[in-house]
Amino acid sequence: MTSSSKRNQSIFEATNRPERVFEVPKENTGKTMKVSEYFGDNVFDFRTAEGIPEAVRVELLKVAKISGKKLKREHVEVVATAATEWATQRGATHICHWFQPLTGSTAEKHDAFLAFKGDKPIEKISVTQLMQGEPDASSFPNGGSRSTFEARGYTAWDITSPMFLTESTNGKTLCIPTAFVSYSGQALDVKTPLLRSINRLDAAATKFLQLTGKSDAKNVMVTCGAEQEYFLIDKAFVAARPDLVMTGRTLFGSLSARNQQLSDHYFGEIPERVLSFMQELDHELYKLGIPAKTRHNEVAPSQFEMAPIFNDANVSADQNQMMMAVIKKTAAKHNFEAILHEKPFAGINGSGKHLNWSMRDDKGNNLLEPGSEPHQNLRFLAVMGIVCEAVYRHGDTLRMAISGHGNDHRLGGHEAPPSIISVFLGDTLNHIVEALLAGKTFTPDDKKFVDVGADQLAQLMRDNTDRNRTSPFAFTGNKFEFRAVGSSQNIGFPMSVLNAAVTEVFNESNTWLEKELGAGKSVDQALQELTLKWIKNCKPVIFNGDGYSEEWVKEAAARGLPNLKNTPEALGVLTQKDRISYLTEMGVFKAEELETRYNVLIEKYVLAREIEYRTQMEMVNQYVVPSALEYKAELLASVNASKQAGVDFSIEKELLSMLDQTFQKVYSECSNLKRALETVDLDEHVTAAAKFAEQLMPMSESLANQCNELEELIPDHLWSLPKYREMLFLR
Ligand code: ADP
Ligand code: MG
Repeated sequence: MTSSSKRNQSIFEATNRPERVFEVPKENTGKTMKVSEYFGDNVFDFRTAEGIPEAVRVELLKVAKISGKKLKREHVEVVATAATEWATQRGATHICHWFQPLTGSTAEKHDAFLAFKGDKPIEKISVTQLMQGEPDASSFPNGGSRSTFEARGYTAWDITSPMFLTESTNGKTLCIPTAFVSYSGQALDVKTPLLRSINRLDAAATKFLQLTGKSDAKNVMVTCGAEQEYFLIDKAFVAARPDLVMTGRTLFGSLSARNQQLSDHYFGEIPERVLSFMQELDHELYKLGIPAKTRHNEVAPSQFEMAPIFNDANVSADQNQMMMAVIKKTAAKHNFEAILHEKPFAGINGSGKHLNWSMRDDKGNNLLEPGSEPHQNLRFLAVMGIVCEAVYRHGDTLRMAISGHGNDHRLGGHEAPPSIISVFLGDTLNHIVEALLAGKTFTPDDKKFVDVGADQLAQLMRDNTDRNRTSPFAFTGNKFEFRAVGSSQNIGFPMSVLNAAVTEVFNESNTWLEKELGAGKSVDQALQELTLKWIKNCKPVIFNGDGYSEEWVKEAAARGLPNLKNTPEALGVLTQKDRISYLTEMGVFKAEELETRYNVLIEKYVLAREIEYRTQMEMVNQYVVPSALEYKAELLASVNASKQAGVDFSIEKELLSMLDQTFQKVYSECSNLKRALETVDLDEHVTAAAKFAEQLMPMSESLANQCNELEELIPDHLWSLPKYREMLFLR
């Protein structure tokens, strides 16, 4: 048996998979159902569900809309009964409180519907069961925020996000989106601060609308659509790569000669087996009420993307978590592993998540829609100025909120925005901004005269927001797109930070507006001055050039923009009271919650890296070294045979010396990494994280490069790990 036989077996399996057929829902007549006929079939939303009297619905809607309004038990009872009936009719046996602890993924605790009325078994969820759960919080990362006697955590029903039914092979479960808080009311999850931030931004933006001529504005919702990138790799390859199994990325691997340089994958024809997967994925998402819209190949081989139609921020954040889970689950059915890691393969693009973000009022008007009337234009420009100012002030916390060991490989890597947070406005808006700053009227390139604040801005904007993929925060026509978010991350955290930052500037704008309008200034005049005030101040953050360039790094430094290069550095922001105080002042986070997050995130970084280093060393010892030794033995045998036969063996000698050189390096670099890891006190998370980022990371990367050299030297039949070209191109 050669070393590569296991690898060959993976290749055989991956290339001989039959396509999976799934059952498309059919009508009684046998006709295939349209998506619109089954969309949301697995969703229970009190707003639309049967069995809820109109009067109760109205009361519940008030609670969902108005923060601070409390749920009444009798109303919850109605929902609990209706949800039980609905779910059990569909075959559900359990309910679960579904929540988002700081681990980054989701958690669930199941309870059966089964209850007893006297001796009689029935299906029931009680009011308390629906409203509140008590998972043991001590097993979730808490960053030292709770002493052991306070191990109790509570999950609380989030009425704004619909319940949903998950189906597995042998049963169904009713999932209830919940917030997860400690006994003393600290948020132990991602959802709670997000909900707070949505409420705070609502209040501030609604007031802004009321002050600027929309006196009937009732509320403002944050809207969000998250584009999700992922890789699909055949299960057989993943199973043969300990690094993919343990860490979600390859810890070494020689880049195939052909990778993404032909640009032939992006938007190319979707491979048949992948399309089959996508069709089932979309089907599963539709049932869950997730409006999957776009699907296509991405830049790197075997990389794909899906994007939903945007939704209210909280629902959208929940749906993105669900989406990631459904992608993984459905991929497995097709014998794929869906890889959500930000950088599974070195040398080709990694995966991100574009967080499209905007706000809309209760009449559905988008606050970032330029609009076709002068005063709409002016309000739009002011909102744009407010968002830019917010990003300028709080770029460091935004950077912090998207940090993570996976994203570290991507940011600034000539494939993703750099670690410097700047704003891209596009040509038209930029010209307007420049005209405003110069005190001039704005003339667009096409010679149609448009005064600042005159009409046609909407049309111009739509045509002129050309793409700048290099910007981390870009205006794209009627929304901003935060592009530096990592593919595996929960969008709730960066969105909470963004909402808080924008709220702060809205609040200041409102105070300023009240004063100016009170002094007799017209709304139009005040809006123009407000825009100018913010644009002038935040000018350094606006950058329309190439974000990947070296010059930008220098220029950004000259402009005073922070450049937080890795996760430990970025997380350091959480220890700077003056930099994070706004998050508590805006009521989005409590001070202890930020401390908790710091501890949890820094620990997570240390643990993830430690696992990577250990896995890498294990693979060197168990896969790379044996392959090298085998090759060496082969070469030596050839030398001996040549000697005996009296023929030249200079080539063998040369190969031996090349092999030995690289082998030596691999061996010594691996030993060095081991020693370096031994000197790190892993319980001292902060110093360990810094050491990992600054010292061990470069060592591990150098070791990876040496392994890649060996991979290139060693004959194919002696290499046991699936190669990049196989994982990325064979299916
Ligand atoms: P792209 O060209 O980047 O694919 P799209 O217009 O298709 O741009 O939008 C990308 C994402 O942005 C989608 O998820 C879409 O639903 C979302 N999106 C569009 N408008 C808004 C908005 N007003 N607020 C939040 N997200 C939005
Ligand atoms: Mg986009």
